[in-house]
Amino acid sequence: MHYFDHAATTPMRQAAIDAWVRHSQAVNPGGQYGSGRRARSVLDDAREQIAGIMGAEPIEVIFTASGTEADNIAIHGLYRASELSRIVSTPIEHPAVKEVVEHLVAEEGAEAVLLPVDRHSHVSDLSALDVPAAVATCMYANNETGAIQPIPEIIARAAAVGTPVHVDAVQAVGRVPIHFHDLGATTLASSAHKYGGPRGVGFLLAKRSPAPTAILHGGGQERGIRPGTVDVASAAAMAAALQEAVDEMVAANGRISALRDELRERILAAVDDVRVNTAEPALPGHLHLSFPGADGDSMIMLLDSLGVEAATGSACSSGVSRMSHVLEAMGVADAEGIGSLRFTLGRTTTAEDVEYLAAHIAEVVEKARRAGLR
Ligand code: PLP
Repeated sequence: MHYFDHAATTPMRQAAIDAWVRHSQAVNPGGQYGSGRRARSVLDDAREQIAGIMGAEPIEVIFTASGTEADNIAIHGLYRASELSRIVSTPIEHPAVKEVVEHLVAEEGAEAVLLPVDRHSHVSDLSALDVPAAVATCMYANNETGAIQPIPEIIARAAAVGTPVHVDAVQAVGRVPIHFHDLGATTLASSAHKYGGPRGVGFLLAKRSPAPTAILHGGGQERGIRPGTVDVASAAAMAAALQEAVDEMVAANGRISALRDELRERILAAVDDVRVNTAEPALPGHLHLSFPGADGDSMIMLLDSLGVEAATGSACSSGVSRMSHVLEAMGVADAEGIGSLRFTLGRTTTAEDVEYLAAHIAEVVEKARRAGLR
């Protein structure tokens, strides 16, 4: 098996599994007795460790059940905390952000303005940020192309008119250095399974003020911003995974980006008419390509039958392939975008994986193009 879908999820690190198992019996950290206090202390340690790594205060760390939940709480909550109805976003956000903004427009009278992006999905014009808004939201790095966005510039521009900024950093945390206070964001979302922690746990960093108004109501945990009993074992495993990811980052990124560049050059040499959609600045493991005339879903199935696991840039709805909203925003033509593949490399990717894929990609594209009667 050759796994090229590390942006979807990456295998759990042994350090995370060990922490998870070690604390699997942790009781409710709200208990006022010995075992409750012990669980609380494990949770406090995880909170402090994450805060230290991310350049935040422990009180700014809000444990959540996913990146999606962190995004929802932040955007919806900052919108509610404001008297303004304007939202600034981008056309390339993950559904965890895109759908929240669309919901606020459809149901709560918000007006959304989207910052344009260029051919490689980098935000290209920040002028919409000059008008104050309830919240501006932009992803740190795009999940399809890996494009890293001009977040410091976006935050500076929004701050000049007092607009709070949410950053969906789900693809970026553990892959690029991020310091919450230096960045100056109001809130920032992260998800453990993107850097070797368990699935189903994440965190939101949230400044004391302005804080998102609660959209969930319950027992008041996590500053009341995310009520509900926290999964102590998962929080400890997430902290362990993040620590290791950050410790290894420089060496891992060098190795992974070299493999990714090698893969790109080999594919360009083996297949004619390829468009490279990933351009710098980008995450080290992303390689997004379009093969005009081939259907993405066909290529995924052919690759799967060869033991290669990758993702397509298109979304399949009721059996009909559509180009992704990201490629659409980049101005990619339908006929081209439909034949897109996203290869994402990570910690466990080897030179053999790259070699195998490079040796088989031409036959896959050729078969898919023939099936598409090209
Ligand atoms: N935001 C981005 C950019 C993502 O890539 C993802 C997951 O793919 C999410 C949010 C959602 O994270 P989770 O899977 O933890 O809900």
